[in-house]
Amino acid sequence: MKHYYYKSGDLWAEDVRLTDILSRVGTPCYVYSEAAIIKQWQAFDSALAHHPHKICYAVKANSNLAVLNTLAQLGSGFDIVSGGELARVIAAKGKPNQVVFSGVGKQALEIIQALKYGIFCFNIESAAELQLINQLAEHHNLLAPIAFRINPDVDPKSHPYISTGLKENKFGIDFAQAIPLYQDAKKLKHIEVKGITFHIGSQLTSLSPFIDATKRILTLIEQLKSVGINLQYLDVGGGLGIRYQDETPPSPKAYIDALLALCIPPELTLILEPGRSIVGDAGILITQVLLLKQAGNKQFCIVDCAMNDLLRPTLYQAWQNIIPLKEQALKTLQYDVVGPVCESGDFLGLSRRLAIEPGDYLAITEAGAYGFVMSSNYNSRPRAPEVMIKGEKFKLIRERETIQELFAKEYLFND
Ligand SMILES: *Cc1c(COP(=O)(O)O)cnc(C)c1O
Repeated sequence: MKHYYYKSGDLWAEDVRLTDILSRVGTPCYVYSEAAIIKQWQAFDSALAHHPHKICYAVKANSNLAVLNTLAQLGSGFDIVSGGELARVIAAKGKPNQVVFSGVGKQALEIIQALKYGIFCFNIESAAELQLINQLAEHHNLLAPIAFRINPDVDPKSHPYISTGLKENKFGIDFAQAIPLYQDAKKLKHIEVKGITFHIGSQLTSLSPFIDATKRILTLIEQLKSVGINLQYLDVGGGLGIRYQDETPPSPKAYIDALLALCIPPELTLILEPGRSIVGDAGILITQVLLLKQAGNKQFCIVDCAMNDLLRPTLYQAWQNIIPLKEQALKTLQYDVVGPVCESGDFLGLSRRLAIEPGDYLAITEAGAYGFVMSSNYNSRPRAPEVMIKGEKFKLIRERETIQELFAKEYLFND
């Protein structure tokens, strides 16, 4: 279900006509529907009503403070991958004791900060990291709650850049090393062994990789039990896909039901780390058509947003829908929708049928996840503002960067 729709030829989200936002904030700009975020979070939460659980939203998908605050108010936990993300969670009134800290290269200062805030758990990705966390906890006379991220070694049949559950990649710990590592951890004085975690990839659109992975990890949990290591929770990571084009991902409920059908023991708290499936549908990126250009027999639609604003099409050859803010009776042509950045790879969408004129506005949909957060200042382009809609109200939740800010921390050598 999409939260945006046309009414009398105009594109709306919740109870706001999107062109009404543009007169205030300009383009390009990101717009998020709070209701869409809440609906997705609650879909996970209600599907898990009868099993002890914790939903730890993956902050990296969209880390705007207003988005995090919306989720914190629902009682969400958070999955972070840096000290910066922990600081954001705290600034957004999230609870540190509901935070799991993932990531393959945590720095000592980040670990100390997380220990002092008393986070829920460190998801450890190597033997070296276990030793480091134990040493730091000892030095500060604290106890570090931990889980190991194990690679279940199932192929998520997804894009190579975003397949993370296989044996040979930088993430996680080899399945075969799991038991000895848990035994080592149990002996460490400043480590508290709490759980187990995996995360096999992103934008997965079928249940089978999740089911295969969970089954393998449940077997491992049994084996650990037989050597005297009893875990309190199973963290199944994130990765549930959304519909960008014609994918048919399972709903949060279908996904949860499939997991629960594996007979997860009631004493094992289930933790989830959804990112994209919470915020992906909730966001759109609005851009203005600068000009139309013909080159050979190709038509280009040149817009004021670019790969620096939305990297997914360039980085993953990802397809996101592009629709006009106003339905118009114009001739439909096929365009490559491209940005002004000096790279041939700078496109938002190829071969799109659009009825548009220069000056029109377009919405790039499903841009709530891995959109703004991956934006950069390449070509000295200020990053776009972000707006949140709530019913008939909308609010600027991040201002457009100014040109001045772009080089405010740069200095001439000879000054
Ligand atoms: C990125 C990530 C997530 C979230 O993934 P989505 O595909 O956005 O749901 C969850 N857990 C870990 C460890 C991650 O790296």
